[in-house]
Amino acid sequence: PPSSITGTDSLLERRNRSFAALQAHYYDAPPRIERGWKEHLIDTSGRHYLDMVNNVTALGHGHPAVAEAAAKQWRLLNTNSRFHYQAVAELSERLLAQVPDSLDTVLLVNSGSEAVELALRLGKAFTGREDVLCVQESYHGWSLGADAVSTSVSDNPRAAQTRPGWVHAADAPNAYRGTHRGEGAGAAYARDAVALLQELHDAGTPVGTYIAEPRNGNAGSIGTPPGYLDTVYAAVRAQGGVCISDEVQMGYGRLGRYFWGFEEHGVVPDIITMAKAMGNGHPLGAVITRREIAEALSSQGSFFSSGGGSTLSSRIGVTVLDVISKEQLQENAGAVGQVLAEGFHSLMDQHALVGAVHGMGLYQGVEFVRSRETLEPAGEETLAVCDRMRELGVIVLPTGDRQNILKVKPPLCFTAESARFFLETLDQVLTDRW
Ligand code: PMP
Repeated sequence: PPSSITGTDSLLERRNRSFAALQAHYYDAPPRIERGWKEHLIDTSGRHYLDMVNNVTALGHGHPAVAEAAAKQWRLLNTNSRFHYQAVAELSERLLAQVPDSLDTVLLVNSGSEAVELALRLGKAFTGREDVLCVQESYHGWSLGADAVSTSVSDNPRAAQTRPGWVHAADAPNAYRGTHRGEGAGAAYARDAVALLQELHDAGTPVGTYIAEPRNGNAGSIGTPPGYLDTVYAAVRAQGGVCISDEVQMGYGRLGRYFWGFEEHGVVPDIITMAKAMGNGHPLGAVITRREIAEALSSQGSFFSSGGGSTLSSRIGVTVLDVISKEQLQENAGAVGQVLAEGFHSLMDQHALVGAVHGMGLYQGVEFVRSRETLEPAGEETLAVCDRMRELGVIVLPTGDRQNILKVKPPLCFTAESARFFLETLDQVLTDRW
């Protein structure tokens, strides 16, 4: 083997040499994590960390039910070669049981980016229109189409200047710091979005597909204000368009009160995209839609993914749904989310740096500001909080276009005890430094 992998270089140096620089990692000296258990991570020296950011490993790290189901299925069969497999049928049925009746067709893929990519293709095939309306400050994936509708400047500082011509972005409906604030913000943002839809229609480029998260995950679980999503969905449909709800981050029980984020708004999307939690870390994603929409794509060719919907992925997908229900993880997300929300609000009373608390269930965002009047984002402070939290054994990260929001999205098995440890550590860091 080359000297670089036998020699004295540290593992981190070796990794950095062979890894593209654009795959950023979190810290200059990241801990080398060797194993995980529930919401805990353990490094090579045996040190424990609380994992506050892992919404992929939704059931928790190292879940034995997933490991056993995967091992058993691997020994039996793992393929996806157009035969008929029990696990695929089971997963598709189980997914359909989770969505409103009008959605009756499942397409299985390997990731969130693939789900979004396929959803955009479906929208285009069904409406015959290329133009897409998305929302500012959003992230939907890395592939060509998913990246085109991703507008967040934290991922791409030149996002606004580099969108292709078929992508149009509505203002981010942020009722805390955006164009419209407070009560009535939802209706005001909706009016702006409807006006934009009309403008595009009149210009001869009517929108075929609207894509949005039900709350902005990338921005730190910022809620879409009431009166917005239902109005925009109605306006898109009135012009013959379809609506995608990207549930890659918000769906699968994380919000506690709702299994899907769109339920919070009383809307039913035409297409739902999902991934992350579905496989508990195993690559698995899906698109759920109506048959007529899926069939529009068949007229343009077939859809096949070598790994998506394999017997292994499907068996893992079924197991994950079993565990969510057996361990009542959605209910847990609601209950422990409440402990976190109350704790964050009391931190807001004590520390001027905490400007707002966003989110629900086990996706919350703690927004740091330098002034509650000007709302000047406290980006450097947020990073410093994260660094100090890591020193104290908690992995938590900044998010959003201003990088001033702590994203709090631990595995769904997160306990009230861990929530209290997190809140106490955050309180200590804020008291010591600010
Ligand atoms: N949509 C949303 C809302 C996401 O948050 C992400 C990933 N952060 C994606 C799509 C892309 O998912 P993946 O990383 O699995 O490709």
